Amino acid sequence: MVRTLSIGVIGIQGAISEHIGSMKSALKEANTSGNVFVVKNEEEINDLDALLLPGGESTTISRELYRSGLYNAILKRIKEKNLPIMGTCAGCVLLASEISYDTNDIKPLKAMEMQVVRNAFGRQKESFEKEINIEGFDASYNAVFIRAPIIKKIWGNCKALAKIKKKIVMARQENILALSFHPELTSDLRVHKYFLDMII
Ligand code: GLN
Repeated sequence: MVRTLSIGVIGIQGAISEHIGSMKSALKEANTSGNVFVVKNEEEINDLDALLLPGGESTTISRELYRSGLYNAILKRIKEKNLPIMGTCAGCVLLASEISYDTNDIKPLKAMEMQVVRNAFGRQKESFEKEINIEGFDASYNAVFIRAPIIKKIWGNCKALAKIKKKIVMARQENILALSFHPELTSDLRVHKYFLDMII
């Protein structure tokens, strides 16, 4: 029997419907059956095959995750090492072990051995697009950055997959993926497909 994947999206802030749309299209192109939906309660976390953590404001998302009980449910699955997660922008901040700027109120999930700097591109560069090279991709990728963090340091099992000069903008640690940009805001599905390959 063909398994239907359950892919949850945290629905607190950010481009939630765009993530759902991109993930559904990626599933379709990969000929894989799956449901993609907004996660509402902690019980649902236990049954997920994968989780998407969209961007937004990491302080707000962190507070709501904690208040709703989702934080502890996700943490449990991270400790069991059986929940693939993709975090984009603020989602990347929340996956870090260390946050080095304006960390008030943020309770990171510490899922990846990396240090993240929030809003690291400065005010004049609040949002921009840039062609980047992603390890394993056969052509360059147009990445959209919005008040983006950078991954300043990685250690242990965390691997850099893309950089702008020396700044890491995409990293992976086993089944967890962090990006400082927004793949859901372009029609290029390669990042969502890459994540799908990590699930199936
Ligand atoms: N600057 C935001 C933060 O650190 C992230 C921005 C985004 O997700 N687009 O929370």
